[in-house]
Amino acid sequence: MQQNPYGEDPVRLVLDLAAQPPCTPAEFADRCVAAGMAIDRPVGDGDLAELLEFLPRWLAVVDADTPEQRAALLNALLTDASEHPRLTDHADGGWHVHYRADGLGLAGVVRAVVSVGTALHLTHRGMDRLGRCALLDCGRAYGDFTRGGRQRYCSPACANRDAVRRFRARQAARQAARKP
Ligand SMILES: [Zn+2]
Ligand SMILES: [Zn+2]
Repeated sequence: MQQNPYGEDPVRLVLDLAAQPPCTPAEFADRCVAAGMAIDRPVGDGDLAELLEFLPRWLAVVDADTPEQRAALLNALLTDASEHPRLTDHADGGWHVHYRADGLGLAGVVRAVVSVGTALHLTHRGMDRLGRCALLDCGRAYGDFTRGGRQRYCSPACANRDAVRRFRARQAARQAARKP
């Protein structure tokens, strides 16, 4: 996965992994490949354990109450997960920037790509562009990639379910008010 300038692909990847953490190293690898990552070394139990430790730390960034707290938590992640930028032209050719050391396993690559991608996403689109689905029985993390930046649900399905629920609540209230 080449880091695009706005961090969208890595944020989408970590949202997917956080919503349903992989159960096996093979599943972890498959889902990264599906997201466009090239995997050039074996993926093992250590990678999965490292990912499962990383996901709650990333979700804490989502759950931060203020931009300052969000920045502080993400800065701590960047300190642990990324390194100074360097130019590389491995594999598919094409020079690009890595924010990590060479030779890391999949979890190390994901931690670096996701931390840097999240920083790019928040600074490009806005510090409030991460959140939790407003549908109470969902609560899944989402990234807001919309133009307007007013997303409140993880998906159109949750937005629709909440709209239906509010409509029914209003109807029920109206009927109750009509009764003598
Ligand atoms: Zn690369
Ligand atoms: Zn939802």
